[in-house]
Amino acid sequence: MQFKVFMNNYVYSCSECGNHLSDPSELVSTSFRGRTGPAWLFAKVINICEGEYEDRMMTTGQHTIVDIYCNNCSNNVGWKYEDSLEESQKYKKGKYILEKALLSFLVLDHQKKEHHLELKSSDCDF
Ligand SMILES: [Zn+2]
Repeated sequence: MQFKVFMNNYVYSCSECGNHLSDPSELVSTSFRGRTGPAWLFAKVINICEGEYEDRMMTTGQHTIVDIYCNNCSNNVGWKYEDSLEESQKYKKGKYILEKALLSFLVLDHQKKEHHLELKSSDCDF
C-alpha cells in the first residue's frame, strides 16, 4: 500500500502523525458523535486500514460498521458504515466517520507542498 495525497491546499490529517485522511470537498456532515465527542461524516477517506466488521447499536438504529485506522501510526481515527437496517440511514452506507478530536487541519502552501507530498509505503501490519 502506498500513501495517497490530496492535491488540494486544505487537508484533514491524522492528528497523531499528519497522514492525509480526507479534505473539505469530501465532508458530508459535521453533526455526528464519535467516541471522543464531535465526529464528521466523509464521503471518502484515504490512507486507512479497516478492522473487524461489527454490528453496533447506535442512537439511529443498528448499523454494521468497521473501525478504521491510520495506516501510518495505527491510531483508531473513526469508522466506516458498511450497512444499516434502517432505510432512512442507508445514505451513510460506504461513508466514513472521522472523530474531530483525532483530526488535524493542514493548510499546504507552495513551499511546504513538497514536504507533505513525500510518499511512503505501509503494509498496515499491526
Ligand atoms: Zn496517523
